[in-house]
Amino acid sequence: MTTSPRRYHITTFGCQMNKADSERMAGILEDMGFEWSEDPNDANLILYNTCTIRDNAEQKVYSYLGRQAKRKHEQPDLTIVVAGCVAQQEGESLLRRVPEVDMVMGPQHANRLKDLLQQVFDGNQVVATEPIHIMEDITKPRRDTTVTAWVNVIYGCNERCTYCVVPNVRGVEQSRTPDAIRSEMEELGRQGYKEVTLLGQNIDAYGRDLPGVTPEGRHQHTLTDLLDYVHDVPGIERIRFATSHPRYFTERLIKACAELPKVCEHFHIPFQSGDNEVLKRMSRGYTHEKYRRIIDTIRQYMPDASISADAIVGFPGETEAQFENTLKLVEDIGFDQLNTAAYSPRPGTPAAVWDEQLSEEVKSDRLQRLNHLVAIKAAERSQRYMGRIEEVLVEEQNPKDKTQVMGRTRGNRLTFFTGDIQELKGQLVNVRITEVRAFSLTGEALVPVTSNQ
Ligand code: SF4
Repeated sequence: MTTSPRRYHITTFGCQMNKADSERMAGILEDMGFEWSEDPNDANLILYNTCTIRDNAEQKVYSYLGRQAKRKHEQPDLTIVVAGCVAQQEGESLLRRVPEVDMVMGPQHANRLKDLLQQVFDGNQVVATEPIHIMEDITKPRRDTTVTAWVNVIYGCNERCTYCVVPNVRGVEQSRTPDAIRSEMEELGRQGYKEVTLLGQNIDAYGRDLPGVTPEGRHQHTLTDLLDYVHDVPGIERIRFATSHPRYFTERLIKACAELPKVCEHFHIPFQSGDNEVLKRMSRGYTHEKYRRIIDTIRQYMPDASISADAIVGFPGETEAQFENTLKLVEDIGFDQLNTAAYSPRPGTPAAVWDEQLSEEVKSDRLQRLNHLVAIKAAERSQRYMGRIEEVLVEEQNPKDKTQVMGRTRGNRLTFFTGDIQELKGQLVNVRITEVRAFSLTGEALVPVTSNQ
């Protein structure tokens, strides 16, 4: 039994999929009568939505858990839930390690939070990590901002990248129907949201598991068809999507992005390595030449498109020459933004048990060299914005300067300008860029181009 008022706190680690799941679970908790508590120590339900991608995220979870477990000895009505990828991977062994935990639930079970919690309140310790068929999402997620929202379009991943735990923890690909996605977006439009990011671990796989083939023999439901289908949702002014896989990225998709005005000219396409041998060992299924061709085609249709990606350095067996091929790719392409990581072995993945693991020194040296180049290239790319007029969707006040608001350009550059958040939140504003930095811009507002009404 819980005491009244019931207050919850969620700590989220990791990727956007986890953030979207956390929002959905927050929505369920609020429907159940829970109130958000900013201070975890003041909450009687603590939920950690965990991530296994980075080692320190996993360690952090255990240290947070230790503190809450102690608190539970003085406050037995405290409910502790571990969700997400660590929960999926560790399952019951997490309960053995921290017996104060009430529930361990994998990411596929996020929508079942209410039922599972009921079992906890009935006095059970619950482990929900078995694969399930994901039911259509009928919950109303609580959103972190009132301007931009994430919408899941496909869960899981059928790829087998040798460094990645996602297929183990998030299960096989399951696409939502175009109608379910469209109606969620329509509801968001009614609520005043202006931007939607369609989400999937491998979003280019969208629709492969849905029935229907065209007379030309391709799947009837692809990401391109979905973009077409949801493009005119009233109120939604901008559409983005992530994460793209180079293996499945098509010219048809690029063309559609160029033609559909609401789809932003920003592409997030992880390449992971610039070396073909390393890519093969990662089981990525493309070469650096193919990746370069994709970027060339994007730039042919949309010369100004911004390109971001993910890259891993220090994959097992990566030689200095192979790492230099990654540097070369970054040098040649000039990314607007690149998320970089030193390889870290994840339990249950093939590469984790390979012999040729590199030392931490080599990995961190390569990471630093790559980050240095990324910052130089991003600063170069930013120069093109100087003096230009960019459309910015205002999201928040600048926490460091209350006289300023902040938002993003269509190319996803964070942009600051002087203005009143009460007046401008959720508005598309034309901003003349007066200052450029590697990863952000500053400018001055011209006239708003749309209003909230
Ligand atoms: S595409 Fe590869 S890296 Fe991405 S989620 Fe699937 S297995 Fe992991």
